[in-house]
Amino acid sequence: MRGLQIVEFKKPYALSHDIPVPQITRDNEVLIKVAVAGYCHTEMMVQNGEFEKMMPPQNTLPLIPSHECTGVVVAVGSKVTNIKAGDRVATPPLKNPCGTCSDCKKGLSKFCQNADHAGVIANGAAAEYMVSDSNWTVVLPKQISFEAAAPLMCAGATIYSGLKTADLKPGQTVAIIGAGALGHLGIQFAKCMGLRVVCVDSRQAPLDLVRGLKYAPDFAIDATKGVEYALKEIGSEGADATLMATDAIPAYEYGLQLTRKHGTFVVIGQPFEPIPIHYTHLIFRNITIKGSLLSDAEGIREMVQLVADKGIEVRTRSYPLEEIETLIKDYHKETHCGKLVLRVSDDE
Ligand SMILES: [Zn+2]
Ligand SMILES: [Zn+2]
Repeated sequence: MRGLQIVEFKKPYALSHDIPVPQITRDNEVLIKVAVAGYCHTEMMVQNGEFEKMMPPQNTLPLIPSHECTGVVVAVGSKVTNIKAGDRVATPPLKNPCGTCSDCKKGLSKFCQNADHAGVIANGAAAEYMVSDSNWTVVLPKQISFEAAAPLMCAGATIYSGLKTADLKPGQTVAIIGAGALGHLGIQFAKCMGLRVVCVDSRQAPLDLVRGLKYAPDFAIDATKGVEYALKEIGSEGADATLMATDAIPAYEYGLQLTRKHGTFVVIGQPFEPIPIHYTHLIFRNITIKGSLLSDAEGIREMVQLVADKGIEVRTRSYPLEEIETLIKDYHKETHCGKLVLRVSDDE
């Protein structure tokens, strides 16, 4: 099959034409003919070898990237009951959690250290076929296209889980810092949950994008105007919770100051450098700091249904596999907004 591969870390992807089609090896697995694969910030970390130490010995280079997979099921394992051949599906990176570790036993298998992560430490979606775990694979409602579904499998699932972690009630204020792939989805999820939504970014293109959404934020604020300006605009003591959907370090102090006393601060971005947090936010302002990782399988199904029921928009731009380098260039442009995806087949 045709696909992209990391042949050597810190080197450009290779486009290969003779990759063996993967086979189902466990009775819970599903073979997907890939339609659209997402390109995520994590892709760069994978390409740089930042997860190399987590790779189990049987998984070696070359590695197929992309951890947001969508497509049509072509074969299922003997114990799969929720999915059949011909189904249109999407699947997040996680597969085959061990079921026996303390996290798995508590129903927290997204934290399982024995799980495979497609596109991160196991082969991913940037090729014609990928094997997924049926327990984590979602059948797509017909109104969700593959192109819209791919960004939901990491970006969407992560910000959705972040909102759940913030644990707010309708009418409360959430600030989402970063109006990128995660942010533009988070704003719409939050509006559909009845929250008052503040979106902050320092770039014009994503702010323009979110202002044009059906579920636009109540406030789309230019971060370069400073946090005092933002606090005045939203006209309260600050946000009840702030979700950091960016890895820009200076944004973290801004986000902490935008969060009200006793509020919640949810870290979603993964900056390479440590996040600076002044003790005053913890001690005198009593802010609770939490992190949020992907969603569990149930959360992913719930989010997909919300997107279908409410007509949430997923803004994407697609590129064929051959144009991966153009995609990467565009990803780093100041004008970049929404989510960039790879179109692997013509299936809709
Ligand atoms: Zn486990
Ligand atoms: Zn991702």
